[in-house]
Amino acid sequence: MPKTFLVTGGAGFIGSAVVRELIKNTEHRVVNVDKLSYAGNLESLASVADSARYTFVLADICHAPSMQSIFEQHQPDIVMHLAAESHVDRSIDGPAEFIQTNVVGTAILLEAARGYWLALQIGNARKAAEFRFHHISTDEVYGDLEGPEGLFTETTPYAPSSPYSASKASSDHLVRAWQRTYGLPTLVTNCSNNYGPYHFPEKLIPLMILNALAGKPLPVYGDGQQIRDWLYVEDHARALIQVATEGQVGQTYNIGGHNEKTNLEVVETICDLLQERVPSESAYRDLITFVADRPGHDLRYAIDAGKIERELGWVPRETFETGLRKTVEWYLGNRSWWQRVQDGSYQGERLGLAKQQ
Ligand code: NAD
Repeated sequence: MPKTFLVTGGAGFIGSAVVRELIKNTEHRVVNVDKLSYAGNLESLASVADSARYTFVLADICHAPSMQSIFEQHQPDIVMHLAAESHVDRSIDGPAEFIQTNVVGTAILLEAARGYWLALQIGNARKAAEFRFHHISTDEVYGDLEGPEGLFTETTPYAPSSPYSASKASSDHLVRAWQRTYGLPTLVTNCSNNYGPYHFPEKLIPLMILNALAGKPLPVYGDGQQIRDWLYVEDHARALIQVATEGQVGQTYNIGGHNEKTNLEVVETICDLLQERVPSESAYRDLITFVADRPGHDLRYAIDAGKIERELGWVPRETFETGLRKTVEWYLGNRSWWQRVQDGSYQGERLGLAKQQ
């Protein structure tokens, strides 16, 4: 039975992968609510924008009246909440926006969802009983792991290090409180680092690919020995849709790809893949430049994804090697997407849309 999904942040990196997956591989309808911050790019949705099952709404989750009217107008069955400020370095330079969107915005969205859900209980009890609010979060809420042993599980205590992860931890707590206090049917997922197509060029993997292609230095923080657990974004999108539709209400699921790599290994692998595809006389690896470490930089993240694998049967399709190869191919084949991000013209559509409102 097709459902209506209200996806916040659907013009972002992971949100757009979720929207593409929902439109291309299911019969569900999608209402994408996004304020189009610098990270929102409607060009990432060009392949689904013409679908009759897809609607875009330009709105800020921090604006309560807009959120209320979006719920009333679109009558969603499932909310997938991805809208957030997501870049750790930006949160260190300016935390206020992170508190606003990630904490205040989540509280406003929860209240709009609760009001809508309460009204449904009177007007459409069956729809109210099936309603779900899925909050998408990060493994960075757990802080970092010391040494090579151990994994984050769903019961690992929260110990966020950066303003970004602290704001996401706050939003997770709010979601669980709305479940516990008001009975709102919520689910939470915490995922490791994503990578793949349509990733904004400020993030590690696209930054390295594009700098290498331009012959620019490849900046690696500290000694490059920080370990991240990488997951291909389309594997994450499938996991999220599975949790939203089949997960048990009130539960948390960790999502990860069993791909622990040091940042230096990631950059070296990118260099080697590029050397194969776009041979350069001077090795790309020679562009690697070590720069001063990020303050409070977490050492190691690694996820135990056993629960979602056991309970929902989800497994990633890509290994790090296959996923990274696909990602490099995508950036080589989609120059206009990233060139329009780099020169700022991707925001033209945003300005046009804003004028129509
Ligand atoms: P992103 O920065 O690429 O996209 C965020 C989207 O949210 C953008 O389209 C932006 O315009 C929108 N947005 C921001 N503020 C908004 C507001 N106030 N109102 C409406 N829309 C707003 O982020 P992403 O990498 O796609 O991450 C999506 C979610 O997944 C985030 O909640 C993030 O914390 C979480 N997450 C990300 C990763 C990762 O590796 N990228 C890993 C785990 C979890």
